[in-house]
Amino acid sequence: MAAVDEDALRQRMAEVMRAMDDKGLNRGTSGNVSARCGEAMLVTPSGVPAARLTADQMVLVQPDGSTAPGSLKPSSEWRMHQGLLDRRPDVGAVVHCHSRYATILACAGKPIPAMHYMVAVSGGSSVPVAPYATFGSSELARIVVETLDGRYATLMANHGQIVAAPNLDFALAIAEEIEEQAAVYWGTLAIGGPSLLGEDEMNHILQRFQSYGQGR
Ligand code: 13P
Ligand code: ZN
Repeated sequence: MAAVDEDALRQRMAEVMRAMDDKGLNRGTSGNVSARCGEAMLVTPSGVPAARLTADQMVLVQPDGSTAPGSLKPSSEWRMHQGLLDRRPDVGAVVHCHSRYATILACAGKPIPAMHYMVAVSGGSSVPVAPYATFGSSELARIVVETLDGRYATLMANHGQIVAAPNLDFALAIAEEIEEQAAVYWGTLAIGGPSLLGEDEMNHILQRFQSYGQGR
């Protein structure tokens, strides 16, 4: 495995947390971010507002869950982040937020159906809702890993959304797009509901996305 630039990761994690606030995807101390760091994981500290987060505050969590003496308490959701990084070799970073429209749908138990081709940025033809479990619980970690099932994104019932992607920038971009798709779906529900794309077309789009743009 290529050497990891831990300092750069820490810095980018703080920037991604601030970007989520700036983009209106999070506020206060909601949300958290993690990144694979060799065999270990870097995760945001629990309960620190994004505006006050610094690179040195990111918590290095070892595979056995231990942290270095003197480090801040890791995010209450560290098990959910670790579960995803453990089970998904394709995932290098995880972003969790309480963005408004994704959370509205998550609170209403409504998955985002195949109503726009960009729903496929989630890695599937729809964005599911992971069943509810208490924040920070091992149960929530298990449920989220299970629901993602190879996708990049899922809504989390009565909570928010989570994205697991190859890197931090990609994860942030997907979270932002999921929020947009959630808002569009919410809008369609107000005027009679969406007109859906077929499964074949969504599969075609998922394939097209493999080669879209300039590559990652
Ligand atoms: P932390 O501050 O512990 O990361 O918790 C925020 C959150 O969104 C819990 O789900
Ligand atoms: Zn949360």
